[in-house]
Amino acid sequence: MAGGVGGARFLLGARRLLGLDPASGAAGTPPPGGEPVHGLDAVVNVGDDAWMHGVRICPDLDTCMYTLGGGIDPDRGWGHADETWNCRDELAAYGVQPDWFGLGDKDLATHLVRTQMLGAGYRLTDVTEALSTRWSPGVRLLPVTDDRCETHVVVPGGPDGAQGDGERAIHFQEWWVRHRAALPASGFVQIGADAARPTPETLEAIEAADLVVVAPSNPVVSVGAILAVPGIRAALRSTSAPVVGVSPVIGGAVLRGMADACLTAIGVETSALAVARHFGARSGTGLLDGWLVAPGDGPTDATGEVDGIAVREAPLLMTDPDATARMVAAAIDLAGLEVPVRSGR
Ligand code: GDP
Ligand code: CA
Repeated sequence: MAGGVGGARFLLGARRLLGLDPASGAAGTPPPGGEPVHGLDAVVNVGDDAWMHGVRICPDLDTCMYTLGGGIDPDRGWGHADETWNCRDELAAYGVQPDWFGLGDKDLATHLVRTQMLGAGYRLTDVTEALSTRWSPGVRLLPVTDDRCETHVVVPGGPDGAQGDGERAIHFQEWWVRHRAALPASGFVQIGADAARPTPETLEAIEAADLVVVAPSNPVVSVGAILAVPGIRAALRSTSAPVVGVSPVIGGAVLRGMADACLTAIGVETSALAVARHFGARSGTGLLDGWLVAPGDGPTDATGEVDGIAVREAPLLMTDPDATARMVAAAIDLAGLEVPVRSGR
């Protein structure tokens, strides 16, 4: 289960561990252990998706696809490497809104292909598969739903942004990108969730999995938005696979971003164990069998458990695919499964 940057880096490590790095291309090295015995499916958040300037944007799917395909901008962590911004500047010259969302020229090509295919009636799942043909991610990227289920943020102000009492809901992108998550948020709503359904591919992946791992993605607007699709929670609770998560919070802080603003908005403390409690134990009414936290973030008593969730400490900094692969191995071990051993490691 993955969001954007955190999810994509996690997938790089999982792909390395399972020997699924593509045999050629910028992203990877050939697996030394011969044919991989496991596959990797990523159920990806679509809550950030939006229409901008008439094209469909899927930021988390694209971040995963570009990262795994070796085409991500390494500094920004999103969008294409060697991007140019001619179209954005031309749009600004016309004075059209939104002027706060930067669409790169190369990125725009992805959105044009996607928009055209969606217009022709293809499902987002099929569009993503088609786009992935070019990037060879080595991972099956599955949008959690083909339906629109967009995260909106409840902020102060009248319906049209007028000052005064009341609240209004703005698209997540407007809150995150335009306002840098600085507008006080009182909650999140998924527009379209009532009618949204998980894709058959997603349900089948969860049902048939040997292991489900919740990546260290934003617990609210990435993982939370995946869980908001009706049927996903039930699928996670009923799969025979263990479900373990990796904490995106290390030492009481989130990394590379503003995810703490999302936790604060829903009244969850920014701590690894508070996020675990928020997801809850599968033995209770929640989702997790295990939760991996950074060294020093575990429970202080000797139980190794928090509210029925097995908690273990391991290094959680995803500095490169090999370090991340070791983190994924720790998650597999925590789940009580055998860590795949590849020769040459
Ligand atoms: P987004 O959709 O691009 O915001 O990315 P995600 O939702 O997938 O991931 C964002 C989360 O990744 C944040 O909460 C970060 O704390 C977490 N994160 C980023 N880098 C690391 C890392 O190296 N280790 C861990 N454990 N979490 C990380
Ligand atoms: Ca995202």
